[in-house]
Amino acid sequence: MLVATKAGRLVLAENASGKNGYFCPGCGEPVILRKGQHKIAHFAHRPGSKCQLSEGETAEHLLGKRQLFQWYQQQGRHVELEVYLPRVNQRPDLLLVDGKKKVAIEFQCSPLSLQRLLERNTGYRRCGMQFHWLLGAPYQGRHLRSAKIAQFTQEVAGRPGLLFWDTRVGRLVVKRDLARCSFIRQPGLGPRATIKYQMRRLNALQYGSGHSLPVQQLVGELAAYRPLAACPLVCHDVMPSWPTLDEPVILWRMRVIRALVKRPLFCYWPVDVWQEWVAEVASNHWLGYGCIDATIMHQQAITALTADLLSYQYLLACPGGYLLFRYPRWFDSVQEKMNLLNRGGFSQANALK
Ligand SMILES: [Zn+2]
Repeated sequence: MLVATKAGRLVLAENASGKNGYFCPGCGEPVILRKGQHKIAHFAHRPGSKCQLSEGETAEHLLGKRQLFQWYQQQGRHVELEVYLPRVNQRPDLLLVDGKKKVAIEFQCSPLSLQRLLERNTGYRRCGMQFHWLLGAPYQGRHLRSAKIAQFTQEVAGRPGLLFWDTRVGRLVVKRDLARCSFIRQPGLGPRATIKYQMRRLNALQYGSGHSLPVQQLVGELAAYRPLAACPLVCHDVMPSWPTLDEPVILWRMRVIRALVKRPLFCYWPVDVWQEWVAEVASNHWLGYGCIDATIMHQQAITALTADLLSYQYLLACPGGYLLFRYPRWFDSVQEKMNLLNRGGFSQANALK
């Protein structure tokens, strides 16, 4: 940590001199000043300390915290370092104070479970604070898992995003380009190419050597329907979406379709009942969110699927709800589906068959 108390006053490690007399603002135990040419001045608990705030801090964490402190100061913000909140026994890395509004800023460089993130955020809420989580280098790799993206997703200017602090250049980075179509990393393929690519991947996952647990589970559940690549076109998510599920959206859509065709034709759902029903179909596949309301995120996947079901006229919009108008049908073969795509399309007219 960068701050300790000495003789009842807070001192910043880089301004501290003398080896002794520093105490942890949280637990009150004596802490040691660490200073050297090649390290950032900081205080450390003694080995074996039971203080909950004495998590091992990496050099990156200490550096980023100090950079952020200066960065906010340069913007004329009122910012405090490592303010201990006795009520919840937490100590955010930084605290922004703007009149009555307080925002806890956390710079996260080490692994953190969703459970602990939720606990910390509950603590901040209890103190009437907002919070932002900025991620460090270990999270900046190219392949951040969907569950981690969801965990740290924040609302940035009204839209989902991830926040990173890059200590190499001392800069805040907002990442928004994490929306994807199933199986596809690079956006911009166009609907038909997206469908064809997803079909190839479904084939590879179902019949290839690469074992894919979600796909094999789904194949088991959909025993009556094979192959997966012959699924109805409405299953293909051709619009990129922010991660909401622990499996590709296309598999989730197949589950919903499977449940849908078991319902009687012309059955009617009020809008809210429909949304609950769809959410239920794959309830154990929804990702958990740590910083924003999960139901809002899940809603996006449901809204996108509902829009596609309406546009293919499987559902009809009725006052206050939806009517099941006809059943999505699996293609007899992958070839039949390919022929349709090659003939020009996946337009509604072609899908009405
Ligand atoms: Zn302590």
